[in-house]
Amino acid sequence: MAKNKYVYFFGGGKAEGMVVAKDEKGRKQILGGKGSGLADMTAAGLPVPEGFTITCQACAECNELGRKWPKGLAEEVEANIAKLEQLTGKTFGRGGNPLLVSVRSGAAVSMPGMMDTVLNLGLNDETLASLIALTGNERFAYDAYRRFMQMFGDVVLGIEHHDFEHALQSVKDRRGAKLDTDLDVTGLREVVAEYKKAYEHAGKAFPQDARKQLEASINAVFQSWNNPRAIKYRQLNDIRGLLGTAVNVQLMVFGNMGGDSGTGVAFTRDPSTGKNEFYGEYLMNAQGEDVVAGIRTPQPIATLANVDPAAYKQLVEIRGKLESHYRDMQDIEFTIEKGKLFMLQTRSGKRTIFAAVRAAVEMAEAGLITRDQAVARVPSGQLSQLFAPVLDRKEEGAAEKQGRILAKGLPASPGGACGQVVFHADVAEAWAKEGKKVILVRIETSPEDVGGMAVAQAVVTARGGMTSHAAVVARGMGTPCVAGAGDLRIDYSAKTITVQDKIVREGEHVSLSGFTGTVYVGQIKVQPSEIIQVQDGVLKPEESLLFQQYSKLLGWSDRIRKLGVRTNADIPRDADRASKMGAEGIGLCRTEHMFFEGNRIVSFRRFILVADEVKRLREELAAAGDDQAKAAAIHQKLAVPEAQYNQALAELLPLQRSDFEGIFRVMGSRPVTIRLLDPPLHEFLPQEDANQREMAATMGIDVQIIKNTVASMHEFNPMLGLRGCRLGIAYPDVSAMQVRAIIEAALKVCGEGFKPHPEIMIPLVGAVKELQLQRELTEKVIQQVKAERGLKKLPFPVKIGTMIEVPRGAITADEIATVAEFFSFGTNDLTQMGCGFSRDDAGKFLGDYVRQGIYDYDPFQTLDRGGVGQLVKIAVEKGRKTRPDIKLGICGEHGGDPMSVEFCHMVGLNYVSCSPYRVPVARLAAAQAALKHPYGQPATEAKPAKRAAKKPARKPAKARKKGKR
Ligand code: ADP
Ligand code: MG
Ligand code: MG
Repeated sequence: MAKNKYVYFFGGGKAEGMVVAKDEKGRKQILGGKGSGLADMTAAGLPVPEGFTITCQACAECNELGRKWPKGLAEEVEANIAKLEQLTGKTFGRGGNPLLVSVRSGAAVSMPGMMDTVLNLGLNDETLASLIALTGNERFAYDAYRRFMQMFGDVVLGIEHHDFEHALQSVKDRRGAKLDTDLDVTGLREVVAEYKKAYEHAGKAFPQDARKQLEASINAVFQSWNNPRAIKYRQLNDIRGLLGTAVNVQLMVFGNMGGDSGTGVAFTRDPSTGKNEFYGEYLMNAQGEDVVAGIRTPQPIATLANVDPAAYKQLVEIRGKLESHYRDMQDIEFTIEKGKLFMLQTRSGKRTIFAAVRAAVEMAEAGLITRDQAVARVPSGQLSQLFAPVLDRKEEGAAEKQGRILAKGLPASPGGACGQVVFHADVAEAWAKEGKKVILVRIETSPEDVGGMAVAQAVVTARGGMTSHAAVVARGMGTPCVAGAGDLRIDYSAKTITVQDKIVREGEHVSLSGFTGTVYVGQIKVQPSEIIQVQDGVLKPEESLLFQQYSKLLGWSDRIRKLGVRTNADIPRDADRASKMGAEGIGLCRTEHMFFEGNRIVSFRRFILVADEVKRLREELAAAGDDQAKAAAIHQKLAVPEAQYNQALAELLPLQRSDFEGIFRVMGSRPVTIRLLDPPLHEFLPQEDANQREMAATMGIDVQIIKNTVASMHEFNPMLGLRGCRLGIAYPDVSAMQVRAIIEAALKVCGEGFKPHPEIMIPLVGAVKELQLQRELTEKVIQQVKAERGLKKLPFPVKIGTMIEVPRGAITADEIATVAEFFSFGTNDLTQMGCGFSRDDAGKFLGDYVRQGIYDYDPFQTLDRGGVGQLVKIAVEKGRKTRPDIKLGICGEHGGDPMSVEFCHMVGLNYVSCSPYRVPVARLAAAQAALKHPYGQPATEAKPAKRAAKKPARKPAKARKKGKR
């Protein structure tokens, strides 16, 4: 019987739908969220107007059958109408006590705005008269009728909403009424007449037959599932795998029957802060969406205690019941009809990340849920919003009202910021030095801008997506960023931003929110995150509830997760922040950023200018063999460039060494993976003429030398060119210098009592021989240093490993593992090369790719499990086969993306590494992955002892005992 049952009744304290599935999740799939909530509340004895739910399955079948109802549905609907008539003593579409219903959509996942609800269905000329006689309230009856005609015409028949608005307005104008509520019975009667004309005008008939009304409305809900708005919504919100929407047909109750009636919406806790406080609004003498429509100003829920104490008391009781039933914050709708309270909806309430953390922690502590549930519930992807400075909400709202929005772009890095506009990184640095707060506005950014970005309050770009240079670097720094604000016309020479009639000049203030991607003209107050204030010792932990709850939640997560969490950090300051965020090591320390700072770039540029010549001459020298005369000539030519070459490396060595020392000091005994130089060399030379001239002047050389070098280094595909270990193979002296700096730095801090754990990482290896060569070189340098210091053994362990980021490297991981003690998956490059998508150009088409479902997600943001993920999996298996104790991690941008973290857990990596501000995201996401896949292959690598203990040694908090029934 159950197989082809399409309709489930609720009412009279019972709900048929309760048996369709064992749990709420299953019920939602069949009855939809709204239907499941109505069934739940009915079964729990709450006052819910009776009705019935048509299943999502019915919708799917109807759409499949080409808008025909599946067999048996019509009979079931009819039988349920009869049941409703019987239970309420009313009759549908006729008689002295007419049955009026609402028709409401409701999929398994709430999709607000997908389809409008039809209220007051069942009204026609006959039942209108009955309603007047029954209530003695003619105005009410006409108001209900005209609302129904409008909703039915608009939602079901597709008559322009505008036509009804127009008709209503013309009557209001004629009668001098300002508000809808100013219209009396005569006025409303005229409105009904006008509406009938609107139907005629549109060539549609208003059906007097209630059953026709119902059938058409149910069909409209079914079809709304596939309207473009709904499809778009599902796409945007990543809602997949649903059958269709359910339809709820429910007895109408009326909040608009006078001063003793009303309607409202409420949350069981404050949805923006999470505070355990009843939160909501209501309006007396109002129906349906009047509360949210903003026509009249609704009252705060607490005042209902004075207006209708009995209803308020009952509502507060229901609030408690619902929370203990659902064990979650609920969002409810209610209506009071002549002093009697009815519940119309309950669902899990949408909340900010602040509210999510607070509610989860407080519910766990109150024993309403377990700690595991608290951890599972908080959306990890949003967690980094907790650390961002925020714009003052009131001021932001005011700015919007005043029309101060300059442009909207992508919310690339969260946080609020306010500062003076500058257009160049060096100006940013100079102004910041003077103590000014600046916002760096660029068409797009490049590595040369990093210094300016670091001192800016925020970064704005006109071009680029969520993984553009600006976005990635800003997120890494925790600097708010709005990227790709295409409306901005940026003129570097005039130093202006223009958007239509608005002009912002250098030095003028703008404010922005990286949460929403909005840029405002002028100043808006900014406040730092409390968590950061506590981490920096500005605020005491006991002074910040947010900090305390955040710490608790992450502490619980740490006991659950199996993955380690490291950070990508290049400088001590980032390493320090990441440590405060809970990083257990550095998974990627990029050395190239160190070359850009201050004067170092000059030394390195000197090196680059002669590197090729030195290499060539040295090769000639080797080829000259015994030819003394030739060798002497070459030596002479080599003397000057080689001196410059050696000098440059000698200048860089102590600088790199001190960088590493700083990082080792911050990280103590935690592992630090340092990647040898990776990017193509030309990135270190200025490409623009003005900058080339400046470089020439600084170095006292002819600008032509620079231009020639730049030209000779030009590559068609630099990302596939001379970079990564290829650099180290072409210019071994650079690798040697870097290795020496690492080892000497580690020795230095050892002397200070630290126990460093350096891990030297060779990038971009695709063939084992590449790694072999670089490994030999590395070991040779280590030998040299030991010899110089007279050491038999280094007083600390050094691991040598590689990045797996070239597909060939992944496929031949078994060979590579013979030489590598660890793999770190560089999933940015692995995606680029695995999918064949240039990271710098993919923005042009990836949007289309995701929209058309070629890829489920942007593979640069969320690891492509089916392709790139398989490369990772192969490398994991092959790597472990060769070397069972090989250490496996990931250091691409994916390391901080929750879905990718889940995958890393599933394939059994040892750790993920991500930017400092995403470390807590990864900690939480890793715990969630472990809860979701408890049998996921556990990492073989030792984890800190506290977590290594098998069977989670969680203290059975009082919360847990009470929470689990
Ligand atoms: P949405 O999914 O957009 O919230 P709903 O189906 O909940 O749409 O309905 C919209 C409005 O109509 C809500 O305010 C709801 O409370 C009200 N409403 C729906 N059904 C009834 C009913 N049977 N009696 C009174 N009001 C109703
Ligand atoms: Mg609703
Ligand atoms: Mg790479």
